[in-house]
Amino acid sequence: PVVLGIESSCDETGAGIVRDGKLLAHVVASSMDEHARFGGVVPEIASRAHLQAFTPVVRQALAEAGLRLGQLDAVAVTTGPGLSGALQVGLAGAKTLAYATGVPLYGVHHLAGHVAADTLEHGPLPEPCVVLIVSGGHTSLLLVRDLVREPILHLGDTLDDAAGECFDKVARILGLPYPGGPAIDRAAKAGDPDAVAFPRPLTKAGDDPYAFSFSGLKTAAARWAEQHRLRGAELPVADGAAALQEAVADVLTRKALRACRDHDVRTLIVVGGVAANSRVRALAEQRCGAAGIELRVPPMTLCTDNGAMIAAVGDLLVRSGAGPAPLNVSIDPSAPLEYAALTPTTAPA
Ligand code: ATP
Ligand code: FE
Ligand code: MG
Repeated sequence: PVVLGIESSCDETGAGIVRDGKLLAHVVASSMDEHARFGGVVPEIASRAHLQAFTPVVRQALAEAGLRLGQLDAVAVTTGPGLSGALQVGLAGAKTLAYATGVPLYGVHHLAGHVAADTLEHGPLPEPCVVLIVSGGHTSLLLVRDLVREPILHLGDTLDDAAGECFDKVARILGLPYPGGPAIDRAAKAGDPDAVAFPRPLTKAGDDPYAFSFSGLKTAAARWAEQHRLRGAELPVADGAAALQEAVADVLTRKALRACRDHDVRTLIVVGGVAANSRVRALAEQRCGAAGIELRVPPMTLCTDNGAMIAAVGDLLVRSGAGPAPLNVSIDPSAPLEYAALTPTTAPA
């Protein structure tokens, strides 16, 4: 089937088109620059930006795929989790398109989208696999069997900040620009990862092996910066960035590999914005290599929020025979991840 996917849960308006697992179009408009001076996403600004970007982004996706609206077989849309105003815009647009063209609508869980992103680059997911989702809003370890037919097993989550959030907050402390992740990645290249002994939260014996905690790292970085300031010393930004990045990459990969070992899984998939981090990638490669585990990381443009990954889930749902969502389906801003199809689907057609 030809499926249009719409994503608008945060600051990216995405439209993507997938046909039978193949990526045909992938268009994203971001309002990131409009939020930069506030140091974080401003919900009202994001909603307005989605409203402005929706039609142009969908048009461009259709043009990229060389398709007309009438040639779509289904529309899939992120119905949660995310910012409610932002989700509303995407859902209203998706409902309109589905209703106007007479095709079924599928409500998709945003995180299932992040998982499915990898299939567009590397093909069907091996069963089972462990997925590490690391983004600005999430840090989760999942055990995925059949993404659209079986419940997704949540192994662990962050107890406080997400990994991306940690990068963004520490970047601020270091005086680096927003978004902080890419800035820390760049700065770290000139730094010494052993210069500061940042903690490795929740890695002691007896700690939950799959839970994460990053707020302590932010506090440790703040204290470290404050010590320099009190001494009137210049902040060794590159060293701080390298050490912080090392601590985050170490904890993420350690726990992901532990999950693979514990569940006898041979494939680790790392997705989400933080999967773009060069040290996270390198350390994951090194540790997976040593453990004989296959590592899959989708390319950068599919790692951050986009519509193609939502289309990929929609395509899988249609092919699995799942029934569509009713047209009165609503958003769920704090939807827990259990099934890829977020909304209760109607009986299979
Ligand atoms: P979510 O998908 O959980 O709703 P989000 O939209 O903020 O949240 P993404 O768009 O997937 O998440 O990723 C953005 C996050 O990724 C930001 O926190 C950003 O700092 C981080 N990030 C991007 N590139 C890098 C990098 N090279 N190193 C570390 N972090 C990065
Ligand atoms: Fe996301
Ligand atoms: Mg984003």
